[in-house]
Amino acid sequence: MERMNERECEDKREREDENANGDAGLDALVSGTNVPQGTVVLAATPIGNTADASARLIALLERADIVAAEDTRRLYALANRLGVHVNGRVVAYHDHNERDKSDGLLDQVETGATVLVVSDAGMPTINDPGLAIVRRAIERGLPVTCAPGPSAVLDALCLSGLPTDRFCYEGFLPRKHSERVQYLRTLRSERRTIVFYETLHRIDDAMADLLDVFGPNRKMALCRELTKDFEQIRRGTIAQIRQSVIDEPPRGEMVLVVAGASEEEADAAVPASLSIEDLAVLSIDRAREDDLRIKDAISQVIAEHPLADGSLANRKQVYNTVLAMKE
Ligand code: SAM
Repeated sequence: MERMNERECEDKREREDENANGDAGLDALVSGTNVPQGTVVLAATPIGNTADASARLIALLERADIVAAEDTRRLYALANRLGVHVNGRVVAYHDHNERDKSDGLLDQVETGATVLVVSDAGMPTINDPGLAIVRRAIERGLPVTCAPGPSAVLDALCLSGLPTDRFCYEGFLPRKHSERVQYLRTLRSERRTIVFYETLHRIDDAMADLLDVFGPNRKMALCRELTKDFEQIRRGTIAQIRQSVIDEPPRGEMVLVVAGASEEEADAAVPASLSIEDLAVLSIDRAREDDLRIKDAISQVIAEHPLADGSLANRKQVYNTVLAMKE
């Protein structure tokens, strides 16, 4: 049979999709969905609203040979809500065993099996298991694909009203206050919109630290219970959201979306460059502590402390200042 080119395949699929929709809606879509053999398939699951499950997810749950699930009980609960029978073998695949399990699953892929990877909610690999098998599949040259769908990162970003053209995803902030503050400081000059995941238990402390590090006036959104009945988006300045968290502690799952730094904020956040005298003092200390020649210590210190424009301080000036200090 003559092979169809990509365009023809696409046209055929579109015609099939249209027919399927016209004939029996979702059922036809599910039964017409191609489940690729000998492939790892990552599939997104709903983050709150079961109706967000895609036809591909349903087809894969029904027809994959193996389903690697973060929590098998939650997998069956989802299948139950969807009215789907999981016919394949179900294995637990979570943060603690994903490295060990990946090769065994990929051996099955090599023999032609379809291995479906799902996490409890949203996209696998996004603060969830999945990356280990993707990496090993790439290393072993085995096919891996994705049935995309809900993920709290993009949902929150789109609803925040903050710029979406450039953003960064920072996952969960460190648990400890000191580490969290230090981490947030590294983001003070970030110009892109920043997305964090946060939990009920730490939201109060996290908001206090955000206020401390980013100041009261940056815009942000606290997005909770996305896609669920009690979905709520609180938009305002960091100070306003902080106050709202005190007045009305948010429940459920949540994502924080914080505006990137303005040009002035980004400039102000760049640490002031050290003076020649500071560099000289640091070089003397470094030479003593690491038992270095003073010239080597100066080279190291200068390289570690670039000036505000990114250039390096004049070595000779620092050396002369060191000599003057030693006299
Ligand atoms: N893989 C998931 C995804 O793609 O969004 C994320 C899993 S991570 C372990 C769980 C975190 O995602 C929650 O603590 C919360 O910050 C966020 N999250 C998940 N579902 C959410 C929802 N319905 N509303 C708000 N945040 C949600």
